[in-house]
Amino acid sequence: MSTKRTVGMFESFDRSGRATRSSHYCAGCGHGILHKLITEALVELGLQDRTVVVSPIGCAVFGYYYWDVGNIGAAHGRAPAVATAVSRTIPQAVVVAYQGDGDLAAIGFNCAVQAANRGERMVTFMVNNCTYGMTGGQMSPTSLLGQRTLTSPQGREAATEGHPLRVAELFNQLQAPVYIARCSVADTKRIFQTKQIVRKALELQRDGKGYAYVEVLSPCPTAMGLDALASARFTAEQMEQVFPLGVIRDHSTQAVPLPPPAPACSVPDFFARYRDRDFPAPVEDATYTERRMIVAGSGGQGILVLGLCLIEAGALAQRFVTWYPTYGPEQRGGFASCALVIGGRTIGSPHVEHPDILVCLTRPMLERFLPLVKPGGVVFCDTMILGPDAPSRPDVRIVAVPATELAAANGSSRAANTVMLTALLHTRVTGLPEEAILHARDATLRKKPSLIALNRHVFDAGLAWCRQNLP
Ligand code: SF4
Repeated sequence: MSTKRTVGMFESFDRSGRATRSSHYCAGCGHGILHKLITEALVELGLQDRTVVVSPIGCAVFGYYYWDVGNIGAAHGRAPAVATAVSRTIPQAVVVAYQGDGDLAAIGFNCAVQAANRGERMVTFMVNNCTYGMTGGQMSPTSLLGQRTLTSPQGREAATEGHPLRVAELFNQLQAPVYIARCSVADTKRIFQTKQIVRKALELQRDGKGYAYVEVLSPCPTAMGLDALASARFTAEQMEQVFPLGVIRDHSTQAVPLPPPAPACSVPDFFARYRDRDFPAPVEDATYTERRMIVAGSGGQGILVLGLCLIEAGALAQRFVTWYPTYGPEQRGGFASCALVIGGRTIGSPHVEHPDILVCLTRPMLERFLPLVKPGGVVFCDTMILGPDAPSRPDVRIVAVPATELAAANGSSRAANTVMLTALLHTRVTGLPEEAILHARDATLRKKPSLIALNRHVFDAGLAWCRQNLP
């Protein structure tokens, strides 16, 4: 990158952790050129303060080091989804989804094609260098036939790896896009043509006219294993045979500015709109201390049901609640856990990193979650998973309950979760009223009513044990 500052980029790329004017891109890479073209066009059009660039996973992941505009980093392939959200919530924004061919044409293809098909108000720049550059040069959807890559050492074959994906031509089958073009940064002449195309796509965004797709053929000397000149020659001579340059669609004259998106609803409105009508609305209550809990065990132990029962009780008690399940791919026997938050005000995040309360029915889950419990927290464990070598913590209260044993003795070992519910009720750690828990206990079996009687029996046995054995 030239030492002359491009207006629109940061004067020093301090966000990289170093006070530097050099980018992280390899010598001969096309990304830096395209960054500069986009920036110059934004500045010339006076759009810098309105622009939000959504960066990909890939070599351009650090776009926010350079562009002095709004920046967001998206998960792999999801830049179009994030860009859609920005475009719809900030109608005056000029939204740029910046992606590579691996990010867009592989993992994120569905996301990209859906955004194009919806005609979102954004421009997507796809840097096509026929390879996964950041991860070392694997075959990407746009790799050429015969191209040797890390994962196609004999060269890409149509019979086994398919043909190079021509994204611009595929998008040209859609009705909504306003502008589709392919250009290149392989040499000076092509860079000047690209400058015009970039500017045109950004003008469309300035005017709010809809979706634009610009594919930019770009050298990647590092992954191609070529020097900068040979890489640029490969881009101009071989890539263009498969990916011809030109404006493929230009509906900019006929296109009219899109109407502003429907106003986004506020957070309270959102919850009011989607609230489950079977439950009373939650009520703000500053006196209720938020409980963050994890219930963990293995598939088939009713871990998720116990979590649902607790949040259902919380909802009945007009608390704010979230339930966030996690489980392995196995239907039975794999790990299962759920994170619950029960609060007296709107919950910021359903993620529970450090629970106040942990309920554990298997040893591996105890080993995994015990270290995360907050000091002063309470851990409910099935007695059978404890032993002399069980993990322990002096700063948390461990409540051992013979849950599986009691459940088995009263009809079904699979009702150990119900015994744990009685321990939670007896110790009052959740702060939820007994009536709400009793109602939820039966309600969570609404799809299996034949089990309600057995479950109540186990519940009564568990509660009797707790009254005798727990403070
Ligand atoms: S690996 Fe390729 S795309 Fe990535 S920075 Fe280097 S030259 Fe550019």
